[in-house]
Amino acid sequence: MKLPEFKYHPDPLGTGSIIESDAECECCGQARGFIYTGPVYAEEELNDALCPWCISDGAAHEKFDATFTDEDGIGDDESWESVPDEVVAQVSQRTPGFSGWQQERWWTHCGDAAAFIGRAGHEELSAHGPEAIAAIQESAGLLDGKEWNEFFAALGKEGSPTAYLFRCVKCGALGGYQDCD
Ligand SMILES: [Zn+2]
Ligand SMILES: [Zn+2]
Repeated sequence: MKLPEFKYHPDPLGTGSIIESDAECECCGQARGFIYTGPVYAEEELNDALCPWCISDGAAHEKFDATFTDEDGIGDDESWESVPDEVVAQVSQRTPGFSGWQQERWWTHCGDAAAFIGRAGHEELSAHGPEAIAAIQESAGLLDGKEWNEFFAALGKEGSPTAYLFRCVKCGALGGYQDCD
């Protein structure tokens, strides 16, 4: 079965936010072969309990008043662009989120939310090239020279610190941020 398309989270299997599972979805009651493992903000406890289709069509948001990324985290940086309410709604209500060490933030660019590529360490950033490395170095603030080299070497996809890499859906620019536990 083909997963629904998520403009702002194009490969949720790759990022691990959705996994193959026999679990029944708490929203539609069906076992559809996949389940969402990312954060859920709702009154009810809905960890590992929603299928990608109920996220995509807004059913899980409607039924449980659930969101998957905190609205306040979308474009949450002085240097990031604010985006229209409709974009905030699509990311928070109908897009799989991802798990960060700290409160998750969603990079924005060209007046739109960017697509989440995934967590990245120094190997993944190197594979994405100099633009990805520069974006994370910029987000790390004043780090430069030896300080940055040490920080960069410590970045791990599963570790701490880690980077969260995004790609602009309009111009293709890479961006993101880093955090640690
Ligand atoms: Zn469902
Ligand atoms: Zn852009």
